[in-house]
Amino acid sequence: MDLYEHQARQLFEEHGIVVPRAEVADSPKEAREIARRLGGRVVVKAQVKTGGRGKAGGVRLAADPAAAELTARQILGMDIKGHTVGKVMLAQPVDIESEFYVSYVLDRAAGRFLAIASAEGGMEIEEVAASRPEAVARVHIDPAEGVTSAKASEIAEAAGLPAQTVDVLVRLWEVLVREDAVLVEVNPLVRTEQGQILALDGKVTLDDNARFRQARWGAEGMEHDDPLEAAAAAKGLNYVKLDGEVGIIGNGAGLVMSTLDVVAGCGARPANFLDIGGGASAQIMADGLSVILSDPAVKSVFVNVFGGITACDAVADGIVQALDSVQLTRPLVVRLDGNNAARGRAILDERAHPLVQQATTMDGAACRAARLATSG
Ligand code: GDP
Ligand code: MN
Repeated sequence: MDLYEHQARQLFEEHGIVVPRAEVADSPKEAREIARRLGGRVVVKAQVKTGGRGKAGGVRLAADPAAAELTARQILGMDIKGHTVGKVMLAQPVDIESEFYVSYVLDRAAGRFLAIASAEGGMEIEEVAASRPEAVARVHIDPAEGVTSAKASEIAEAAGLPAQTVDVLVRLWEVLVREDAVLVEVNPLVRTEQGQILALDGKVTLDDNARFRQARWGAEGMEHDDPLEAAAAAKGLNYVKLDGEVGIIGNGAGLVMSTLDVVAGCGARPANFLDIGGGASAQIMADGLSVILSDPAVKSVFVNVFGGITACDAVADGIVQALDSVQLTRPLVVRLDGNNAARGRAILDERAHPLVQQATTMDGAACRAARLATSG
């Protein structure tokens, strides 16, 4: 999960990285009061979980509290790349001498963290990397050693950053490790005309597997971008929204992944997928179906279960109970195989719901669900 800029800078501050004074407002009036407290002139910054706010007009200088109020009124409610601005941050402006880029990001292919740094910060790093790759330093980090002063010096030297940034590089690594982040990025890290090093922007992505340790961010930090993903998470389900038309429910990550491929192979696109995991109870099935059916893009649903520890008759019982609690409005294709498959199929046959069809093979079931989704 991504944090907002104002949350990222809170972490930076806690680990001794200097940031400009700033406060968050959710109304223009409040923005005016904050600007007054901060000395009048402020930078008004949209708080959205996406980059490129500057280019989109979401980062603007205001000369005095009245201008801050007006600017906040313009930025609040703005749409930036599909994100609606609900809050603005007001920050004391800084006289920038140079802008740098620094980040640590998980390099999954290498199985290590990667430091990316450049003396050409401020712009989007992808653009710098594309036009002048030699201006972007990439240094892998040994997880057992982390970023020591020596390592930080190596990164700074490789990128042509001033020696003053070494301390920030060490502290930024501490943010990553202590706060369970998989990405920390500062763009720009600036040197002011007074020679101070400050983090002017911050992006932090926390490791979702560490959510239980990061409860401090509450609902705001934990929120899912997609409301259905949020509803599913609240029920303890693993649900991912995609952009096709076939809803997919399966048991186990591996089976669910191959189900997506088979549906795609039949010429349809998955609308979402939901992994009901190991001990799928009737309740889990009902919750799962209600989440999948709440997505208006779903034209048919494919339930693909290979019975193992969870026997197919238990899954079938779950579907039958789900049919009593959730109103089925689109066709459901069920493929049960493995442990107690015959008994499971018999249970569904007996229920004989007009919108439920059974298929014995995964390929056959997938293509039937695909046809049902694309024919209407
Ligand atoms: P982003 O566009 O979403 O990455 O938002 P940033 O927070 O990085 O702001 C965009 C740009 O605005 C930065 O690269 C800076 O050049 C500029 N900026 C932000 N804060 C200040 C400030 O306090 N003073 C000055 N002079 N420029 C600023
Ligand atoms: Mn930035």
